[in-house]
Amino acid sequence: MQQGMRRNIILVPLVRISSQIVEILEQSLAGIFGSGIHVRMRIGSLDYAYAPKRKQYLAPLILSSLRSLTAGVRCLGIVNVDLYSPGLNYILGEADIGSGVALISLYRLRPQVYGLPPDEKLYHNRIIKEAVHELGHTYYLNHCLDGKCVMHFSRGLADTDLKQVGFCQKCQKKLDEAGPNGDAATA
Ligand SMILES: [Zn+2]
Ligand SMILES: [Zn+2]
Repeated sequence: MQQGMRRNIILVPLVRISSQIVEILEQSLAGIFGSGIHVRMRIGSLDYAYAPKRKQYLAPLILSSLRSLTAGVRCLGIVNVDLYSPGLNYILGEADIGSGVALISLYRLRPQVYGLPPDEKLYHNRIIKEAVHELGHTYYLNHCLDGKCVMHFSRGLADTDLKQVGFCQKCQKKLDEAGPNGDAATA
């Protein structure tokens, strides 16, 4: 494993188990995978997966409930180098919707890059807008026709500066309907 790379594992007790076992798992998984372990208690009924005839629980059903949990995990990378993507001269950011990962670059967001005087507020607003926009994609939001909406496609910074930091009503509704895990929208 490369230095500085850390996996993140979410440990999810779905039933009550002893804190000692949770601790043991935390320690050994951290050692074996070199990862950050997060414990998230999700104790509740497993009745939905119970098959009375077999007196057993259907594992795939329980697995899918976990999938919706990890779908809530999002990652935003921030760099300060110039980014491009195949077919595009440059990009301000990008998102990989399937894996919930997004990336933004600060490189082209500084007014000084264009020979303009520094403007911290403008700079910071651009950063927020780009971050919200890319993370918005990871919640299955597409580009929005509303020029004020943060999900509007920016052909350049002029477009970015016209946008608001937040979502338009339509996009906000889509996001709300997707639920906290953002997994139910269009996927
Ligand atoms: Zn976009
Ligand atoms: Zn919108």
